[in-house]
Amino acid sequence: SGPDAARLVASRVLDVPDFPKPGVMFKDLMPLFADGAAFREVIDGIVAYHGRDSFDAVVGIEARGFVLAAAIAYATGVGVVPVRKAGKLPRPAYSASYALEYGEATLEVHQDAFTAGHRVLVVDDVLATGGTAEATLDLVERAGGTVTGFTVLLELGFLGGRKRLAPRPVHALLTV
Ligand code: AMP
Repeated sequence: SGPDAARLVASRVLDVPDFPKPGVMFKDLMPLFADGAAFREVIDGIVAYHGRDSFDAVVGIEARGFVLAAAIAYATGVGVVPVRKAGKLPRPAYSASYALEYGEATLEVHQDAFTAGHRVLVVDDVLATGGTAEATLDLVERAGGTVTGFTVLLELGFLGGRKRLAPRPVHALLTV
């Protein structure tokens, strides 16, 4: 974590205007994922920031969060739990819906994903308005997990996600 990780993220994000729709500046972190040394440094930085014994499971938010969660889980020896878009999970799941600019999105987690008191680290690539993260943290807690950390590679500070999630702490490698 710290200034080195922030520099890595800053140097390997591509700004894609008007994706997926006009007016949105999409922050594409695929170049960071594709750079083996940079990806490893970012994963190690996230683990070091939280402490490798501070969580019992790591949750990734579909789909780019899966990439990060799997690497963190492998690096620390904990399990990985996916939070998925509606209709993808095969067994009984909790659902949380939230408003998007146009319409609504729903995320789900298996009801038996955690044992009570499981300490959970949640990861995603980008924090924008915070709706996705808020729904995910809610789902983890409904499923019996205790959220002990939430990390994103990149926070879009002007969209207010951090305030929306308060008082829960948000860790971002880079805030713009
Ligand atoms: P939000 O719920 O508004 O915080 O949006 C966060 C989710 O949408 C994350 O899973 C991101 O991957 C994705 N996302 C939202 N806005 C952007 C953006 N400008 N660039 C890249 N991903 C984004």
